[in-house]
Amino acid sequence: MPAILQDKETNPFESMMSRFDAAAERLKLDPGLYQILRVPDREITVSIPVMMDSGRLQVFIGYRVQHNLARGPCKGGIRFAPTVTLDEVRALAAWMTWKCAIVNIPFGGAKGGVICDPSKLSNSEIEKITRRYTAMLMDVLGPERDVPAPDMNTNEQVMAWVMDTYSMHQRHTVTGVVTGKPIELGGSRGRHDATGRGIMICCNQAIKRLGLTREQTRVAVQGFGNVGSTAARLMQEGGYRIVGLSDINGGILSPDGIRVSEAIAYYKEKRTLAGLPGTRSCSNAELLETDCDILVPAATENQITSHNAGRLKCKILCEGANGPTTAAADDIVEAKKIFIIPDILANAGGVTVSYFEWVQDRQGYFWTENTVNSELERIMIESFEAVVSYADLHHVNMRIASYMLAVDRVASTTRLRGIYA
Ligand code: GLU
Repeated sequence: MPAILQDKETNPFESMMSRFDAAAERLKLDPGLYQILRVPDREITVSIPVMMDSGRLQVFIGYRVQHNLARGPCKGGIRFAPTVTLDEVRALAAWMTWKCAIVNIPFGGAKGGVICDPSKLSNSEIEKITRRYTAMLMDVLGPERDVPAPDMNTNEQVMAWVMDTYSMHQRHTVTGVVTGKPIELGGSRGRHDATGRGIMICCNQAIKRLGLTREQTRVAVQGFGNVGSTAARLMQEGGYRIVGLSDINGGILSPDGIRVSEAIAYYKEKRTLAGLPGTRSCSNAELLETDCDILVPAATENQITSHNAGRLKCKILCEGANGPTTAAADDIVEAKKIFIIPDILANAGGVTVSYFEWVQDRQGYFWTENTVNSELERIMIESFEAVVSYADLHHVNMRIASYMLAVDRVASTTRLRGIYA
């Protein structure tokens, strides 16, 4: 959606800011610190000329926003999508700051994006965009400065190109400049599944609070990219019943349960979930409103709004995507007594294993998958419980508690560091 068409409710930066404001007010945040934390430290816009396969030149626009680096090098993904806007990248960068603070890893927040439609680009065009974008950002990226990772429509291969381009300019191999790389190039075991695994760990904690067992718990997942498909697969392996799935074109439902490994194989072949035997097709809107215990929106922003929040039937809303619920929908979700696992907690498993990858690259010593997964589980459980305790202590919901905890941590680091003049 071009920025101009976005109303206040669906502007991701407004969505982020209104929760930040609510948290800052409850924390009685110092007005000076408020001013620092509400604006990004640095925003960069780059023009990326690419010689297309057709022989014609095309210029793409890319962004990198570094929201805050008080707690360490900036960290955050790069997305390729036609809908990328500067306001979206700003919001996503701030969400990374809060997310890293919640899981207490030593990073600040950043995000990058290039306005392009990867479904209409060849592999070599995507590679050229990636390499030129990286070359334009040589002075701001680096293991000690700013470390990208995959996000929407980018993957291990794109990260390999970022790593290679950066390394060519540095004249030596720098694996720690990017995370989410292929394992052969210094990637971490367990990184691919990490966001989905983190979602499952949060859900495990949430159902205990609600007194549900996994076998009783019906789950619907919106989105079938890395996050959605992995969360659904791992949750089914863990004993949950997956009653709904969807991709960009629509969803499938089956009250008796969908076999996720079959859905993944079917999707690989047909590039759609529609028609999977034993399921009935539905729209994405219907999927969100389906009867289930846990709803995992893992597609994109602004899926649960003031228009449809009143019709949700889930008991737990576990946000796999960044910003899937608008701020205007928060009160409606709360009034329905739905337990929210907010995005900046629920999907933090990805950046947590990115942190492990960065540590392994710097050590030059690589961990087993078991070590990665058990360290991830420890951090996710600790973080989940920290947000729950904050919510209980301050009598706020999980959304506001997560922002309060994050803002408090970043503010306290900023106070300790002082203001350099
Ligand atoms: N893009 C992911 C996110 O939004 C991962 C970021 C990272 O690992 O740096 O959390």
